[in-house]
Amino acid sequence: MAKTETPRRIRGTQDIFGDEQRRFAHVLSTFERVRALYCFQRVDIPVFESTAVFARSLGETTDVVSKEMYTFEDRGGDSITLRPEFTAGIARAYLTEGWQQFAPMKLTTSGPVFRYERPQKGRFRQFHQIDAEVIGAAEPAADVELLVLADQLLRELGISEGVTLQLNTLGDAATRDAWREALVAHFEAHRGELSEDSLTRLEKNPMRILDSKDPRDRPIADSAPDIDAYLTDEARAFFEAVTAGLDAAGVTWERNARLVRGLDYYRHTAFEFVTDRLGAQGTVLAGGRYDGLIGSLGGPETAGVGWAAGVERLAMLVPELAAVNPDVIVAVEDDRAIGLGHRLLRSLRKDGLSAEMIATGSPRKRYDKAAKVNAKVLVSLNVDEDKPVTRAVAATATDELSQVQTIIDDLAEALR
Ligand code: ATP
Ligand code: MG
Repeated sequence: MAKTETPRRIRGTQDIFGDEQRRFAHVLSTFERVRALYCFQRVDIPVFESTAVFARSLGETTDVVSKEMYTFEDRGGDSITLRPEFTAGIARAYLTEGWQQFAPMKLTTSGPVFRYERPQKGRFRQFHQIDAEVIGAAEPAADVELLVLADQLLRELGISEGVTLQLNTLGDAATRDAWREALVAHFEAHRGELSEDSLTRLEKNPMRILDSKDPRDRPIADSAPDIDAYLTDEARAFFEAVTAGLDAAGVTWERNARLVRGLDYYRHTAFEFVTDRLGAQGTVLAGGRYDGLIGSLGGPETAGVGWAAGVERLAMLVPELAAVNPDVIVAVEDDRAIGLGHRLLRSLRKDGLSAEMIATGSPRKRYDKAAKVNAKVLVSLNVDEDKPVTRAVAATATDELSQVQTIIDDLAEALR
C-alpha cells in the first residue's frame, strides 16, 4: 500500500515555537502593558472583510491592493478579503458600529494579517502586526501621543538601539495639490527613465514614485522637489506642533523629506522607525495621519492617525529569551505515591505555583531527572513502611520553599 504523503506547510506561513515563540509573545505582552499606560483600549476585529473595505480605503494602485490581497469568493458568492492590515477594518467598525459617540477613540489591536508576497527571510504571507490608532482627533497632540507610545514600546523591548524615527509631513489638501503638480512636472520631464510601475503611478498617484524601490526610479525620486516650498501656513504649523511635542517628550527624530506613506488618504504626519540591523527590511514600525480615510469609506469626514509594526520583525530584534523553569518539580520516587503527587500538584497550582511531576521511567532515576529541571523547589515523594515521605528542598534559598512546605503540611494534615 502506498504511504500517505504528509501535507506540507504552505509557503510563507510559519509555525512559531521555542525561542522564537517566546520573543514573539514578549513583543505582544509588552505592547499590551505599554498601551495600557497610555490609556489605549484594545479592540478585536474580524480577520476577513468585504473586499470593498480594503479596495476603497487602501487605494486601487497600492501594491497591497493591486498585487498582495488574499481575495476570494465565499460559498455565498460574496467577495471577501483576508485583512492585509488593520486600519481599514477599524475604520469600517467605527462607521458600522456607531462608535462616533466614543470619539476620540484611542485603540490598539494585534493579530495575523495576510499578503500574497514572495516569501523570503522576514517576509511572510501570514504575518502579525501590532497596531495603534487614534480616531476622531484632528490635533497634533494625537500624533505626538502615538509616537511617544511607539518610542516607549521600542525602548521597553530593548531594541531602540540603532533605531531612528524618521518624520515627514505630507501637508494638508492644498499643500498636496500644489506639491503634486510640481512632482508631476518633474516626473514628466524624466518619463523615459522611469520603471513601468512608476509610469502607472504617474497617472494615478505620482507621490508614490517617491518611495519606489526600483533602482531605475531612485535617482529621479531623489532629485524631485521637496514638499517644504509648498506647505501652507496651517500645514507648517501642524508639523511644528508635532515636532515640538516630540522634543518636549524627549523623543529624538530626524526629518526625511523623501518619506511618503504609500496610501492616498495620508495627510500631515508620516513616519517610520527604521533600524540599521535588518538590512533591506529596515522599517520596524510605520504610520501616519489619515484624515481622508473614513470619508473615502463613505463616512463623515473624520480625522485619524495611527501606526502598525510587524511582530516578527520586532521579535527578530529582541534578545534571546530563555525558557522559564517551573517553580516546583515533583519526583515521584515510588509508584505508590502517584496519587499523592496528583493531589500535591493540584494544591501547588491552585496556590499560583507552576509545577510538574516526574513519575515515569525507572523510580531510582527520577530524583536525578527532577534535579536537572532547575526548578526553584524540588519535592521528593517516597513511601517508607507504607507511609508517604515528603521532602522539599530548594536549590537556593527561595520564598517558594516555605510556601511549598506549608502546602505539604496542609496536605499531610488533610490526609491524616
Ligand atoms: P515593506 O516595505 O517591507 O513591504 P510595507 O510598507 O508593506 O513594508 P506596512 O504595510 O507599513 O509595510 O506594514 C507595517 C509593518 O509590517 C512593516 O514595517 C513590517 O515590519 C511588517 N511587514 C510588512 N509586510 C510583511 C511581510 N510580508 N512579512 C512580515 N512582516 C511584514
Ligand atoms: Mg509591502
